[in-house]
Amino acid sequence: MRSRTPIYGIDPDDLDERMFTPRLLLGQYFRAQFLELVDLARARGIAIDIHEKTEITDISRDGQGIMLRDGSGGQWRPFDRAIVATGHTFAGEEEATDSYFPNPWSGLIDAEIAATTVGIMGTSLSALDAAMAIANQHGRFRRKGGELVYVPQDAEGLKITMMSRQGLLPEADFYCPIPYEPLAHMTEEALADAVVADGVLDAVFALFKTELAEADPVYAAEIELDGLTADTFAAAYFEDRLKHDPFRWARENLEEVERNKRDEKTVPWRYALLRMHEQVETLVPEFSDEDRERFAKGLKRVFVDNYGAVPSESIRRLLALRDARILDVVALGDDYELDHDGDTTFITFEGGKLEFDVFVDARGQRALDTEHLPFPSLKRDLLADGQEVPEVADDYSLTGPKAATRRIYLAAIPYLMHDQPFCQGITAAADIAREIAASCARAKARDEAQEEAEAYRVRRYRTA
Ligand SMILES: Cc1cc2nc3c(=O)[nH]c(=O)nc-3n(C[C@H](O)[C@H](O)[C@H](O)COP(=O)(O)OP(=O)(O)OC[C@H]3O[C@@H](n4cnc5c(N)ncnc54)[C@H](O)[C@@H]3O)c2cc1C
Repeated sequence: MRSRTPIYGIDPDDLDERMFTPRLLLGQYFRAQFLELVDLARARGIAIDIHEKTEITDISRDGQGIMLRDGSGGQWRPFDRAIVATGHTFAGEEEATDSYFPNPWSGLIDAEIAATTVGIMGTSLSALDAAMAIANQHGRFRRKGGELVYVPQDAEGLKITMMSRQGLLPEADFYCPIPYEPLAHMTEEALADAVVADGVLDAVFALFKTELAEADPVYAAEIELDGLTADTFAAAYFEDRLKHDPFRWARENLEEVERNKRDEKTVPWRYALLRMHEQVETLVPEFSDEDRERFAKGLKRVFVDNYGAVPSESIRRLLALRDARILDVVALGDDYELDHDGDTTFITFEGGKLEFDVFVDARGQRALDTEHLPFPSLKRDLLADGQEVPEVADDYSLTGPKAATRRIYLAAIPYLMHDQPFCQGITAAADIAREIAASCARAKARDEAQEEAEAYRVRRYRTA
């Protein structure tokens, strides 16, 4: 009989769609799934070659098809189609030192960090991961009478400061019905009407307002939703939280979220925002440049805050580090300067000057442009076509003057974030993959039909 001993601390019987699982476990699960799919495909006669640990350094197109080149100068045969699924790319990897980490994945996890002053730019999940990676080197999280506490070991001198413009911590992941219940006002039809309206963002905000007011009249009255616009909503949304100490807010929010989970109680305004962000995202490509800017400064921040809620356990760890007097959060405001002098990083802002022996930039993935593509030929072609940001069709094929360009699909999220600002995570990756697979299947059927028609013409010609 199969052992039921939970590894990774997870019992298979407890698994459900709400559970946050350790990422290593997820990784192993996906690899196992991948290998199983490969076996299934091969059993059906589909030829699959896998080349692990092979870096592709260029993608070019000619009459023959799509050529790939690898780091050792090797050429890979012309392909009919290519899919660029290179995942996250964090800038500045090469700048990483023992005291400066341009992102949390540039060696921080394996680095030995002394118990010293650590600055982390960012307060969301990546920043939390960075703080935990360092805290775990100098102590242990333990349960004590139902509470999570941080027990320091060799942590004398360890001070971690997380920073952001507003100095807010993420809230805890809240209870809500899944799959999502349909929205009452922000429907497909209403969004289609909003696209043709003058000022798409304002038209979307009108829908947003109606939906939110009806979902949660009490909240709407509290923030005086009636008088708010797409430009003023964010300030009203964050106002109360900004007046409170972030750790106190986090503690109370955690209690509320846990209570609601126990009672299966949904907070209507939170749920409405969560469901609306995906709908609003579909209209971002229709925004004018001005709308995009207004959206980035306003509603986008609200949506990111709402869907960026983190597991309760992450909040418990933050609070445990706070109680151990190790963690602080600082609001830098909009105007601050970041300088390095040797190994030391300085941040100057309205509230004074901060100094860190170790600094981690944990602001997460930023949208990337064509110039960041690590494939010179493809980059050159797209730029020659005036595409400073790679343009993709609905099936994620690159649009471009040459037919061959449309045989290259772009699934790498950083390049898609301009038009899909909330595109992230494995569910988004799965949606993109599904679209591309369907497009490839359609294209293959089209190619086969064309070949057949061609062969038929040749046969008729010969027999005529
Ligand atoms: C630290 C971290 C934590 C995350 N946690 C979560 C989470 O909890 N939940 C969630 O939903 N999402 C999470 N994400 C996001 C999630 O990992 C991604 O959205 C998802 O993996 C994207 O899948 P992908 O297949 O597009 O890219 P990836 O899974 O990143 O795969 C890209 C692959 O391409 C390879 N590659 C890149 N460039 C080249 C090249 N030039 N030549 C050859 N191979 C190349 C890479 O080595 C990699 O194997 C997290 C991301 C990070 C960085």
